[in-house]
Amino acid sequence: MDIVLFGKPGVGKGTQAPKLGEALGVPTIATGDVLRQARREGTPMGREAQKYMDEGKLVPDSVILGIMKEALAGDGARKGAVLDGVVRTPPQAEGLVQVLKDLGRRVDAVLFFDAPDEEIVRRLSGRTVCEKCQTPYTGRQAGDTCTKPGCGGTLVRRADDDPAAIRTRLETFERETAPVLAWYRGHGTPVHTIDAVGAVDEVTRRALGALGR
Ligand code: AMP
Repeated sequence: MDIVLFGKPGVGKGTQAPKLGEALGVPTIATGDVLRQARREGTPMGREAQKYMDEGKLVPDSVILGIMKEALAGDGARKGAVLDGVVRTPPQAEGLVQVLKDLGRRVDAVLFFDAPDEEIVRRLSGRTVCEKCQTPYTGRQAGDTCTKPGCGGTLVRRADDDPAAIRTRLETFERETAPVLAWYRGHGTPVHTIDAVGAVDEVTRRALGALGR
């Protein structure tokens, strides 16, 4: 089962993705995580992506399509994947169709996580992430320790979670990413809107319910 998680930055996709992946028995693919890892390793892709990411702009589609191809063709993703933040422009949606088609698959559903802007800005302004496993936290401080079993990494603030970059990311979403939803609706892919306000487990239940699980 290949599921696209869609929604504004900070709506909770990164929190929900591993929970949904576990429930569905498929891995999570998050382009943001892949790009941050590439930056840490100083690869050419990481160096190219850096300037876009820090300003809250989108990395070029060609880079994202390369990541999609490699990740989806990987052994771990043979039964499908939960795609977190992977499709952010209509050309990426089109590219994903081709990548999955070559593997005999298609996007089975889009989960559109929805929350008001005030809630999103509040979450992003208070967010920390584990620098080792990338788990996001709200209400924890930079310097705290990740509580995910077996991790123990240090929580940090993301460079693009500062107020100026948050504003740019929300504008970028409206201008470049929001049309993706219309693209999926126009191409007959089931799109389920999930109310993303509430306890984490409750939102997971809503998402699984929408998928008939
Ligand atoms: P995220 O962790 O999903 O919030 O992504 C962090 C940043 O990585 C974004 O603000 C973009 O600069 C870049 N990025 C991640 N995924 C994509 C994508 N599918 N298309 C373009 N840029 C992306």
